[in-house]
Amino acid sequence: MLKAMGLELKRQRDNIELIASENIVSEAVLEAMGTVLTNKYAEGYPGKRYYGGCEHVDIVEDIARDRAKELFGAEHANVQPHSGAQANMAVYLAALKPGDTVLGMNLAHGGHLTHGSPVNASGLYYNFVAYGVQEDSFTINYDDLRKAAFKHRPRMIVAGASAYPRIIDFEKIGQIAKDVGALFFVDMAHIAGLVAAGLHPSPVPHAHFVTTTTHKTLRGPRGGLILTTKAWAAAIDKAVFPGSQGGPLMHIIAAKAVALGEALQPEFKTYAQNVISNAKVLSEELIARGHNIVSGGTDNHLMLLDTRGLNITGKEAEHVLDSVGITVNKNAIPFDPTSPFVTSGIRIGTPAATTRGMDADAMRTIAEVIDLTLRSPQDEAALDKARGLVRDLTARFPLYPSIQY
Ligand code: PLP
Repeated sequence: MLKAMGLELKRQRDNIELIASENIVSEAVLEAMGTVLTNKYAEGYPGKRYYGGCEHVDIVEDIARDRAKELFGAEHANVQPHSGAQANMAVYLAALKPGDTVLGMNLAHGGHLTHGSPVNASGLYYNFVAYGVQEDSFTINYDDLRKAAFKHRPRMIVAGASAYPRIIDFEKIGQIAKDVGALFFVDMAHIAGLVAAGLHPSPVPHAHFVTTTTHKTLRGPRGGLILTTKAWAAAIDKAVFPGSQGGPLMHIIAAKAVALGEALQPEFKTYAQNVISNAKVLSEELIARGHNIVSGGTDNHLMLLDTRGLNITGKEAEHVLDSVGITVNKNAIPFDPTSPFVTSGIRIGTPAATTRGMDADAMRTIAEVIDLTLRSPQDEAALDKARGLVRDLTARFPLYPSIQY
């Protein structure tokens, strides 16, 4: 067991992590997760628990809730969801009845499984109708979204995505929801850190419900969180517990509190600015090397590279990049002609590399590595050169130097 943990630490140290949904937490967050708080059952909420001995974990949960509210300017926060998927299911449980119509972003255009995929509980229990991006610009067409809303008259509109490189106009979608009489739910999992830093427009003033994972750009432990209005607070709390979860993970809630505290510091804004500027440099460098970046660039922390011009699939690209020490994931591009198991693209994100301290110069080297690798996937000399560049970079930006398993 310890051996596997040591190997994983080595993998994280020796590779450049470009999976857009991952990050590298601080040692303070790691420590909070490894505390005795994991021993405690605390079903219920601070002051209203179903177990004795909760007076100290109550303090922890109150701090986490207060920090979440302060960071995002929300009226109410529930920090108990074990994951982003659980947070989303709790919102549906609080606000919908089975069979209700919901408008959500197409998974194949960058949406998430929990926004109505037929293989997910959201798609099984609710009548999801998809909106997507337009084929020329690969951006959301808000006029089409409005038309779809008035055609289908949904009970709820869901915004937010897992693979959308552009700003989402939450105010505009919120207005559409208001005009059609729908509830508005934003899943900001990918961009929560950018929202926290004021670098992406916040959905909070426009939405009835906002969920996020805590482990992506927000750089906390794996988990979820829900923000809502005073009016929906009781329904959301009830939908999380007892509606869809049992005891909260108090050690994770402590780690969420630590991460939220870090995100409230001025240094976090600098970090989030660097995440975005690194993504811009990386996308521009890739475009300059002749690569097709979907929608022509990025406004946030991620980009999609269309691999079709290189005559390799997303799956092959992921595999060969892995072999030189670059970790990405294959990802369908909008209107992808291949299956989701193969895909015609890869998703590339900068949150984790930026946490390591990698800067614009490092991004130029990463672009060179990606270019070299994807253009010559069979050329061992080219791959060796790419491996050498990755080795130099990972040595220059060490990871968790004081940790040993
Ligand atoms: N929502 C969005 C937009 C996501 O990208 C993800 C994860 O990738 C989730 C929800 C689900 O989060 P989790 O994996 O914590 O359930």
